[in-house]
Amino acid sequence: MTRSPRRPAFAVSLVLSAMLLAGAAHAAVSNDEILQDPKNPQQIVTNGLGVQGQRYSPLDMLNSNNVKELRPVWAFSFGGEKQRGQQAQPLIKDGVMYLTGSYSRVFAVDARTGKKLWQYDARLPDDIRPCCDVINRGVALYGDLVFFGTLDAKLVALNKDTGKVVWSKKVADHKEGYSISAAPMIVNGKLITGVAGGEFGVVGKIQAYNPENGELLWMRPTVEGHMGYVYKDGKAIENGISGGEAGKTWPGDLWKTGGAAPWLGGYYDPETNLILFGTGNPAPWNSHLRPGDNLYSSSRLALNPDDGTIKWHFQSTPHDGWDFDGVNELISFNYKDGGKEVKAAATADRNGFFYVLDRTNGKFIRGFPFVDKITWATGLDKDGRPIYNEASRPGAPGSEAKGSSVFVAPAFLGAKNWMPMAYNKDTGLFYVPSNEWGMDIWNEGIAYKKGAAFLGAGFTIKPLNEDYIGVLRAIDPVSGKEVWRHKNYAPLWGGVLTTKGNLVFTGTPEGYLQAFNAKTGDKVWEFQTGSGVLGSPVTWEMDGEQYVSVVSGWGGAVPLWGGEVAKRVKDFNQGGMLWTFKLPKQLQQTASTQP
Ligand code: CA
Repeated sequence: MTRSPRRPAFAVSLVLSAMLLAGAAHAAVSNDEILQDPKNPQQIVTNGLGVQGQRYSPLDMLNSNNVKELRPVWAFSFGGEKQRGQQAQPLIKDGVMYLTGSYSRVFAVDARTGKKLWQYDARLPDDIRPCCDVINRGVALYGDLVFFGTLDAKLVALNKDTGKVVWSKKVADHKEGYSISAAPMIVNGKLITGVAGGEFGVVGKIQAYNPENGELLWMRPTVEGHMGYVYKDGKAIENGISGGEAGKTWPGDLWKTGGAAPWLGGYYDPETNLILFGTGNPAPWNSHLRPGDNLYSSSRLALNPDDGTIKWHFQSTPHDGWDFDGVNELISFNYKDGGKEVKAAATADRNGFFYVLDRTNGKFIRGFPFVDKITWATGLDKDGRPIYNEASRPGAPGSEAKGSSVFVAPAFLGAKNWMPMAYNKDTGLFYVPSNEWGMDIWNEGIAYKKGAAFLGAGFTIKPLNEDYIGVLRAIDPVSGKEVWRHKNYAPLWGGVLTTKGNLVFTGTPEGYLQAFNAKTGDKVWEFQTGSGVLGSPVTWEMDGEQYVSVVSGWGGAVPLWGGEVAKRVKDFNQGGMLWTFKLPKQLQQTASTQP
């Protein structure tokens, strides 16, 4: 810039620093920042601490030696009467934390003080149809906007500095049973979302939008037979590649109400340029009504982010008859096999098996049980397909109202449900929040009715052990060995975080945020947050100090669907708080010198 000779130099520098300050306060989130997120611990601009979703932080100021001194610095209440089911992961940008609360609320909070900067409450209709509580799992950030999905299946873009609505788009009709609870994600400048609603016979779909204005760019249904589309100038162009044949893996017209909802959202692998999503149960649950594999239900899908075409699929539970879904996160990681680098991806399925796939093509590398009891299958074949135990498939109702009941493990809420695991590249281990439970399940007759539950099944979940249901496990994805386990009385329902400081963090329904030694599994710290912890913890660096945050607020699917387990946890209090922790300042020095 040209300096005016009459303007004093200090005035110019004042103007410059004012501009820099303004720039810092309103810095837009770029695609590059999103891709570099795992390497920049001063901010968290992705769900999963990186688009691959490994939930690993390179910070080690806080570590397994000094974590015992970790203390709360502030707490923030979501307020109001909406105290239940908090499952978000906070994002942090320029000292501001962005997160969601239950009932489709968004908050921006000063990350240094916990002071509320703004709040957005979506106006929800009375007839929303969330299957599994009024939860939300967080926001996406891009440019100057904050994005999230609502319980009435809308995407909303808010100005990140004011909380004002910039645009709002209906993704699907909530009266048919659609809703959104997952965090959306940004991939190569596109805003990607899935939908929930598999319990209502919706047609699952993944969609990409222009984040600037909400214009639909492509749509990929996740039930075989439905065509996908790309949109140019508002016009739909058929994109039928991998759409599959209607009726091929579904009998009759059932593919029209096939479920397979990609309700947990997805991750992105920049190395293969693939979006990795999971899909839920085929509808209805009663599998006798739909002979066949029922693609692409209970599967993992790899999509081309440019147009939504399916590049490969891996179905973990073909012809699912137990609501095992297949939505659990598929996490990219690389490992060495005889000097050769393998581009792998791992997932811990609701059905009880841990799968390692070749993420370049979806081929099965290995799979093994990660819970103690699996009754519905005796193992996996060489392609990763389950070897069914036919006695564990609930019977057809026939002329009776109710078919024969069978006891099956795991329960439909899963050996692991939505709560994301973490991968630590230093230990080479996945940290998996799992549950040991089973269920009585039986089938019933059912006909599709728009907007009504479409299950054709009944069930009662039961604990397998008196003293615990939850088990946090450290799993070696290469050997298939469990390296350590930590048991918990109530079922685990919160996400996991791991760090270079040899730490693993996760929460419990009993209200604790806990830290474990990543190598040994020793519990090294815990803090009582006042309500069940179902959120996904994060850690970041601010002003040279390492912080940890997590949301607290019991609720979610377990108290609603948990049968005998719900009775076990009925006295747990609901809540809605955001907690933030750090080491006391005088201990920061020792923190950095004692790794
Ligand atoms: Ca389901």
